Amino acid sequence: MSADELPIAAVRGVRKTYRDEAGRERVILDRVDFEVRRGEVVAVLGPSGCGKSTLLRILIGLIEPTAGEVLAHGAPIRGIHPGAALVFQSFALFPWLSVEENVRIGLTGRGVPAPESAARVRDVVARVGLSGHERAMPRELSGGMKQRVGIARALVSGPELLCMDEPFSALDVLTAELLRAEVYRLWSDGGTGLSSVLLVTHLIEEAVTLADRIVVLGANPGTVRREIRNTLPHPRDPRHPEFFRMVDRIHDAVARVHLPEEEEAPAPAAPGRPGPGPFVPLPPATVGEMLGLLEILSDHGGEMDLFEVDAMTEWDFGRTIAVVKAAELLDLVDTPKNRVLLTDAGRGVVAAAPREKPFLFRRQLLALGTFATVVRGLAGREDAAAPGEEVREMLADRLPAEATGALFETLVNWGRFAQLLDYDAAGDELSLFGGRAADAEV
Ligand code: ADP
Ligand code: MG
Repeated sequence: MSADELPIAAVRGVRKTYRDEAGRERVILDRVDFEVRRGEVVAVLGPSGCGKSTLLRILIGLIEPTAGEVLAHGAPIRGIHPGAALVFQSFALFPWLSVEENVRIGLTGRGVPAPESAARVRDVVARVGLSGHERAMPRELSGGMKQRVGIARALVSGPELLCMDEPFSALDVLTAELLRAEVYRLWSDGGTGLSSVLLVTHLIEEAVTLADRIVVLGANPGTVRREIRNTLPHPRDPRHPEFFRMVDRIHDAVARVHLPEEEEAPAPAAPGRPGPGPFVPLPPATVGEMLGLLEILSDHGGEMDLFEVDAMTEWDFGRTIAVVKAAELLDLVDTPKNRVLLTDAGRGVVAAAPREKPFLFRRQLLALGTFATVVRGLAGREDAAAPGEEVREMLADRLPAEATGALFETLVNWGRFAQLLDYDAAGDELSLFGGRAADAEV
């Protein structure tokens, strides 16, 4: 292969683990193969927390993987990728430096002589549409202008690869749309010498607007699950029917990754069916969100398309999936082929009076091995209580790929609502709701 055909940046078999406060290893990325090829705009898409930023930082040498290879033009990378530049979500501007000075930071350590660096800064400031604002200070700029400075700073060194980590999520919708189009223009007009763009995002529409190849990352641990080519012509109009169709295709792929068809929801705890279901992770959704979902479904005849649900709520797609997954785990909904249906138990919860809902939830929770195990453990204690830390350790042992803190928080949220668990945050003590009394019913 000639140097031109080798990917600009690649990871092979990459694994990344972090140690949590208790020193336990948590797998963030596992067996990830990914590359950015010459001349492409590629997006890495996945819900928050699935490891997108970690993958990006490993790819350009900002952090080291625990195992696996990182290659720049086919050779093992040493230090930071020399041809890559990064745009941050938070803009990361120095408030005491002017626009021009903030952009010049992008040339630090690159040995560019002063006259040339001044010319380059002027050129790139003009390209991002900030001519006339060279002397302005960050506080005088709108969010969109600040991110233009961030983009100019990344481009000033003439990188071959522009990496953007959720670059527009701090901006309003219209500004974000405008800047996406500008980034595409900067890449396609060739004036900056840029070869490829890597966009990391949790927004499906953003990936469809910009990327010609979309890589879907799964979670816990993050792995590459799907790759979709996006051949829509540029400039892409987010109101065009073809655009909607592509968004639907990606929605579908993301749903298949995060709500797999074969995943059987455990049956509810029916009398005469003793024994808890599996010890499963709890999707990070609150009871309030689940109740909201059930109401929406009930208002729509008990059945909706997953994407309609997404459109009806304020949640981003990753959150919609977490809420639906949580409700499915509790057997309140069913999800055949991206439809969301209320189950009988779900209808029961909607119909129940407010003070009865907790008892219906309790039944569903106890059908899960996760809750049954915790409750049994607490019931076996002298005072029906245990240090939170001990419970988190047990959760981490049983579900090593999960974020233990978030899992514990969800456990407490669901358990409290169902009047099954109580948690004293100040003393970090988890107990059975109402102490031993509740035990009799368990
Ligand atoms: P994303 O960008 O997809 O939201 P991240 O790559 O930021 O995801 O994080 C993936 C997971 O790794 C998260 O659960 C996060 O808490 C964890 N993580 C990220 N960086 C660190 C770190 N330095 N130490 C410990 N855990 C981390
Ligand atoms: Mg991130």
